[in-house]
Amino acid sequence: MTEKMLKFIKVAQQTPKKRDVIKRIDDFKEIYDEFISGKAKEQSSRCSQCGVPFCQVHCPLHNNIPDWLKLAAENRMEEASELAHSTNNMPEICGRICPQDRLCEGNCVIEQSGHGTVTIGSVEKYITDTAWEKGWIKPFKILKENNQSVGIIGAGPAGLACSEELRKLGYKVTIYDRYDRPGGLLIYGIPNFKLEKFVVERRTNLLKDSGIKFVQNVEIGKDKTLDELRKKHDAILIATGVYKPREIILPGDNLENIFPAMEFLTASNKKGLGDKVKKFDNGILNAQGKNVVVVGGGDTAMDCVRTAVRQNAKSVKCLYRRDRENMPGSAREVYNAEEEGVEFFWLSNPKKFIGKSEIKSVLVEKMKLAEPDSSGRKKPKPIEGSGFEIKTDILIKALGFDPENLPNKFNCPDLEVSKWGTVKIDLKSMETNLEGVFAAGDIVRGASLVVWAIRDGREAAISVDKYLKTKQLKKIEAA
Ligand SMILES: Cc1cc2nc3c(=O)[nH]c(=O)nc-3n(C[C@H](O)[C@H](O)[C@H](O)COP(=O)(O)OP(=O)(O)OC[C@H]3O[C@@H](n4cnc5c(N)ncnc54)[C@H](O)[C@@H]3O)c2cc1C
Ligand code: SF4
Repeated sequence: MTEKMLKFIKVAQQTPKKRDVIKRIDDFKEIYDEFISGKAKEQSSRCSQCGVPFCQVHCPLHNNIPDWLKLAAENRMEEASELAHSTNNMPEICGRICPQDRLCEGNCVIEQSGHGTVTIGSVEKYITDTAWEKGWIKPFKILKENNQSVGIIGAGPAGLACSEELRKLGYKVTIYDRYDRPGGLLIYGIPNFKLEKFVVERRTNLLKDSGIKFVQNVEIGKDKTLDELRKKHDAILIATGVYKPREIILPGDNLENIFPAMEFLTASNKKGLGDKVKKFDNGILNAQGKNVVVVGGGDTAMDCVRTAVRQNAKSVKCLYRRDRENMPGSAREVYNAEEEGVEFFWLSNPKKFIGKSEIKSVLVEKMKLAEPDSSGRKKPKPIEGSGFEIKTDILIKALGFDPENLPNKFNCPDLEVSKWGTVKIDLKSMETNLEGVFAAGDIVRGASLVVWAIRDGREAAISVDKYLKTKQLKKIEAA
């Protein structure tokens, strides 16, 4: 067990809830054990090379999993890393944070036969981390720089993957991002305990060293217009993600110490990166010693409760209006949160936030699930007279995200969006209704996964390349 985990256990032992968890120290070790090389080889050689690679089919990138498992089992790590990189721009990141139970590992034939999946994600992480350690991953060199340029809005996984693919083809690529650091949700959303920030910075630095230009602290729609970018570049990719938090409109929702999930997570991630964060440093956004209540049942809610545990909160409770079976988040994340002492209140919804200026408690109402509606989902309905209060020092709203109003923001009413506000694209070319403007990632799909954003970014690069080649040909023909 690492020194970091030992320290965490020591902290966890100080609170009664978590002490119960620590009694099951062997389980705890199992979850957090380092994935040492012996285990990687052992896991790789468990792959039966079944010939029906469901794992590969169910990986959104169709990674060549059986082949890199075989190479890893034979200790041919450099070749395994090259193969992993041939379909994925950041395998060590996917290895860490993909919900493998729903993707590759959930479909492993060995898992299906009841013998426990090959831990594909951990092997992927191990192969790529080894490649970084050995210095096999280097900035790439292009043979000849093209005179066409592409502007990418958003330095999240979709924008980063697209930038890498286009740069490799020789294009001049500039990424614009409103954050001070590149990475999107990889840097400021997903917590450090799931994805260490040096892993993200290592990747973005590699892209910088490969000639991709990053322009940080620039918000398109505020500091620059979309029109300006369209004039400057030959093609544009919109990869801005989704950031508008879903609100809880209830009596008392204006009380102090009620925060949207991203504010809480960003503060914690910035601290982890060594930044000064006023609202954290003065204790407002620090959960230490406080009773924390998180509302929501998705992965963002799980990240919030687990971050609060690591900040040594006095108690951490999660309210979700449906039951455990109907929770949108990954079952593994819920299991991990429970192991760490988080208390779940299923079929529970906030009814009122109570306090004078600051929140002091939340009135919770029990729910029951009615018959499925036209969408097929059981609708939660309140149970009369079931209200009870929970003491609350910080309440975090983690109900999901919607897209910002991009046509408004970009001052571009012509940009077509769906009824949900996601950017509409031609599904084959990924081009929007504006010529030469493409879109990828969460801003097209709605809140999704890193691995899908990478896939979209890679596919957008193929389309942008086709578009620019045609544009160049037309120019030559017209000359
Ligand atoms: C808390 C949290 C935890 C998550 N955990 C996981 C996980 O464990 N596993 C997983 O697979 N997925 C997870 N996800 C989902 C995943 O992070 C996203 O699906 C993925 O990051 C989407 O990538 P993207 O490139 O489309 O957008 P983003 O990563 O959101 O990047 C968009 C970028 O665009 C920039 N931007 C936005 N508007 C502008 C503008 N007007 N001008 C300039 N720049 C702009 C933003 O600053 C940002 O850097 C999580 C999401 C959240 C919120
Ligand atoms: S990218 Fe994700 S789904 Fe694909 S093999 Fe890796 S962990 Fe599995």
